[in-house]
Amino acid sequence: MQVPFHRPSISADEIRAVTDVLAAGWLTAGRKTAEFETAFADFVGAPHAVAVNSATSALHLALVAAGVGRDDEVLVPAMTFASTAGVVRYLGARPVFVDIERDTHLMDAGKLEERITDRTRAIIPVHYGGQPCDMDAICGIARSRGLHVVEDAAHSLPARYRGRPIGSVGDYTCFSFYATKTITTGEGGMVCTVDGKGAARIRRLRTHGIDRDAWSRLESSRFWQYDVTELGYKYNTTDIAAAMGIEQLKRAESMREARQRIAERYDAAFRGVQGLDLYVVRPGRESAWHLYPLRIDPEGLTIGRDRFIEELEGRGVGVSVHFIPLYEFTYYRGLGYDGAGCDGCRWVFERTLSLPIWPDMGDGEIDHVAGSVLDIVKRYRK
Ligand SMILES: *Cc1c(COP(=O)(O)O)cnc(C)c1O
Repeated sequence: MQVPFHRPSISADEIRAVTDVLAAGWLTAGRKTAEFETAFADFVGAPHAVAVNSATSALHLALVAAGVGRDDEVLVPAMTFASTAGVVRYLGARPVFVDIERDTHLMDAGKLEERITDRTRAIIPVHYGGQPCDMDAICGIARSRGLHVVEDAAHSLPARYRGRPIGSVGDYTCFSFYATKTITTGEGGMVCTVDGKGAARIRRLRTHGIDRDAWSRLESSRFWQYDVTELGYKYNTTDIAAAMGIEQLKRAESMREARQRIAERYDAAFRGVQGLDLYVVRPGRESAWHLYPLRIDPEGLTIGRDRFIEELEGRGVGVSVHFIPLYEFTYYRGLGYDGAGCDGCRWVFERTLSLPIWPDMGDGEIDHVAGSVLDIVKRYRK
């Protein structure tokens, strides 16, 4: 049996919605994009939602709106996707790597204070795998030190922190609709914020710094007239993507429930098995279950993580690794980063892999993945 690492869940509704947009003829950001933003803001309980073409664009513009500039410092977890720190570099600012907790793989709030200097401007907590970070601690530190919190919520739609949906917690929250994420529009992203001024600025910056987008100009008399008020980017989404997003959003909760069920089935299969170490979700946090991270115990097995992945692939199971710590990359090494103080990252990286967890997985597929893991453990146990 072959089980791919991911397969997006696309229903007839998404296909019809996209076809309708193609037939109607307005393809770029327009009425559907506005409708998607309203529905999204409503869904996460945020006053403002601005649609862009990726979470990377969302993070970039949120940092601009938060006032991050040249030579500022921004705290990011050392184990995240490249874009979390890359956007900081776009602004000529310096990402400062913070270690992660071993059981949750989340930014260690207890190690934040020691990384703060008088140049620190913002913190980017990453809700790894869909589990919200310790937002009480992070927001508390940010408030007392006058820092902005820009959440990388690329994994965490829908997720809740102490009952509050992610999207209504920090200053800025950035979501991804990349092909493998919990809802997808092929490529896409969203910034949610409580700050009306920030939202308006992000709206301008996503289309070249133009004061009105093509859609709203169309409804005014001098539709051809506009001003460029500052240098912006080409980060807008399309109505094709938005139409798909509206339909995916309606299914976001049921797809989350399907993923949670898979996680529970894996947990039940792996709990107490010598050689495996279960990922922890803390009380008060509802994960979106974008990932199912599994840690192997290299001391309990005769093979390491890399070999474990090969064995899974040999049994037809698609696997991935989230993430290679940023200080391992040539670019960051070239900037002088060496992973000092990131023992948690190193520990997690050498023993972690991600198993398939997509909503349309059948019981046979789930059991094949779980059975393959147990089979490998049995074969290579010390
Ligand atoms: C996928 C991802 C992003 C980037 O999302 P895009 O929409 O592809 O730009 C950012 N951060 C994390 C943690 C991600 O996994």
